[in-house]
Amino acid sequence: MPESIQEFAARVVAAQSATGRLPLDPAGMPAWDAFPFEATELRVKTLAPLEEEKPRMGVGGPGCPCRGDGAGGWPILWTNEHWQIKVAPPSGSPVILILEPRQHGDLDTLSVERAGEFGVLTVALVRAVESLPSVGRCHVSRWGDGAEHAHVWFIARPLGMTQLRGTYMAIWDDLLPPVPVDVRDDNADAALAHLRETLGT
Ligand SMILES: [Zn+2]
Repeated sequence: MPESIQEFAARVVAAQSATGRLPLDPAGMPAWDAFPFEATELRVKTLAPLEEEKPRMGVGGPGCPCRGDGAGGWPILWTNEHWQIKVAPPSGSPVILILEPRQHGDLDTLSVERAGEFGVLTVALVRAVESLPSVGRCHVSRWGDGAEHAHVWFIARPLGMTQLRGTYMAIWDDLLPPVPVDVRDDNADAALAHLRETLGT
């Protein structure tokens, strides 16, 4: 039988020290090249107790940008009958694109047909972002803790900056100086041109 969340939480709590913190091995994660911070004085935050999941933006549709509600006004660069691609504001990454279905719903509610299209678009977008001369890797990330409407992130990792590899790229993205907006736009335009060529549209 799969473990319950109460059993999971109890095991995590039991691993905490007398001060209520998980241990941080200085020879472990802080010693990784990709870890963005020096570990002096660094310690793990105390964990909050289990709580009700927080409501996400746009649950059921009302309040979601797809219904014309709320903010979420990131520019839409590409669209077809069922999908759209947005570009994120300038950040440390050369460019970040977001793939979304046009119809409201989360990733787990996609029909078989939409799921197939999602796979094709994901592969094409990875190729498109990785075609940029400043990009070494395109990370594909779906978190979805903030908003219900399915949105998948395509995060470009700068070429040769192998220290930024893996999941820490999402943190380095907030630490590197934001790329100028014209650089982001040129990168996004080139990636979308590559995507159109791949899809033949
Ligand atoms: Zn929506």
